[in-house]
Amino acid sequence: MSIVTDASSPAAPEIADATPGDGLREGAFGNATGLACRECGHQVALGPHYACPECFGPLEVAYAFPAVTREQIEAGPRNIWRYKALLPVPDDIEQSRNMEPGFTRLLKADNLGRELGIDHLWVKDDSTNPTNSFKDRVVACALSAAVEFHSKVFACPSTGNLANAVAAAGARAGIRTVVFIPSNLEKPKQVNSAVYTDSLVAVNGNYDDVNRLASEIAGEEEGWAFVNVNVRPFYAEGSKTLGYEIAEQLGWRLPDQIVIPVASGSQLTKVHKAFQELISLGLVEDKPYRVFGAQATGCSPVSVAYKAGTDAIRPVKPDTIAKSLAIGNPADGIYVLDICRETGGAVEDITDDEVRAGILLLARHEGIFTETAGGTTIGVLKKLVDTGQLDPTLDTVVINTGMGLKTLDAISDQVGPAATIEPSYAAFTGSGVL
Ligand SMILES: *Cc1c(COP(=O)(O)O)cnc(C)c1O
Ligand SMILES: [Zn+2]
Repeated sequence: MSIVTDASSPAAPEIADATPGDGLREGAFGNATGLACRECGHQVALGPHYACPECFGPLEVAYAFPAVTREQIEAGPRNIWRYKALLPVPDDIEQSRNMEPGFTRLLKADNLGRELGIDHLWVKDDSTNPTNSFKDRVVACALSAAVEFHSKVFACPSTGNLANAVAAAGARAGIRTVVFIPSNLEKPKQVNSAVYTDSLVAVNGNYDDVNRLASEIAGEEEGWAFVNVNVRPFYAEGSKTLGYEIAEQLGWRLPDQIVIPVASGSQLTKVHKAFQELISLGLVEDKPYRVFGAQATGCSPVSVAYKAGTDAIRPVKPDTIAKSLAIGNPADGIYVLDICRETGGAVEDITDDEVRAGILLLARHEGIFTETAGGTTIGVLKKLVDTGQLDPTLDTVVINTGMGLKTLDAISDQVGPAATIEPSYAAFTGSGVL
């Protein structure tokens, strides 16, 4: 089993019942009732815990949802807090110094659909979040938890976008931030963190090394909230809002197929969880849908396991331009396999050249400049159609999780001026551009 910790990190302290832990204010986590182990079901109280004290399985937020109506949600703000009843956040979340990510556009992508041969295609465009990636959603939920835990430091190990989101949200909340990245990260992603924090730490190693270091620091230091380590259960819930929004923006119905990029696998897992919650709350009609995962071949441990028909995910050393997806040992990879297999989807991977082509496909057909992660997702969408794994007659949503200005290097030698000319009409007509 793949879990979120390793043998050297501390287990969550054992707590017998599932009432809110000491020192937490009433209603601090909304309708959440506790943390439940995804593997054995053991429950612990709400707190900065992430690993099951019984079996080391990952902990997940459990809820007792009240009746929630479409009208209540629609009356909410045009950001993720419209779904606050379904998140582990307090009812007064909108009064806090948090970010307001989400409710990003769902674009009908007819040009790209025509190009790929898909009848009904939508792009969920998360590049317009406050720091230009889907990570603002998860960080907003993690920040709420960190504040309720009276954390002194808001921190993360990151493949880039997470560091941007943590640094910005911490600045707005007035909490000290420390963000850790692999030292070979793209320069724009480094700058996009360093503008918000004076504590960007570049680590000589890959993401999995950075993650191990973060677990060690989380075990040694008091009062640190590592968004994707010790407050990971709260962080992960933020990805559900992508699923809620897609369903609401489709007119309160689920798509038939959805293609989602996979790094740790958290996002894919939580979009599925969101769809299941909407069904069980009666907010959408129950119907089958297929979930597809997208990876770059240079870091494709989940796709490799999917194709081999096994549950055993073998960790890899990443080597791809899709750095925001470069997690060689994905914590939720096993659950991605389960979901993609159970729903009749698949996990697929593409080469770096196909990633670059994916970036151009989306830019030239829909006017959306995505980063390498989005290039991966679009490229995989194309491959799924070309190989007959995705049904082009069904309603299909693809998620664009990031912004192309952060990974300019990936594409900058493939595009540029069609001609460089003197400022005269004759020079223009002679340039061959027309
Ligand atoms: C982090 C990230 C992902 C994937 O996130 P996981 O939940 O770890 O699978 C996808 N796209 C972008 C741009 C990201 O930054
Ligand atoms: Zn357990």
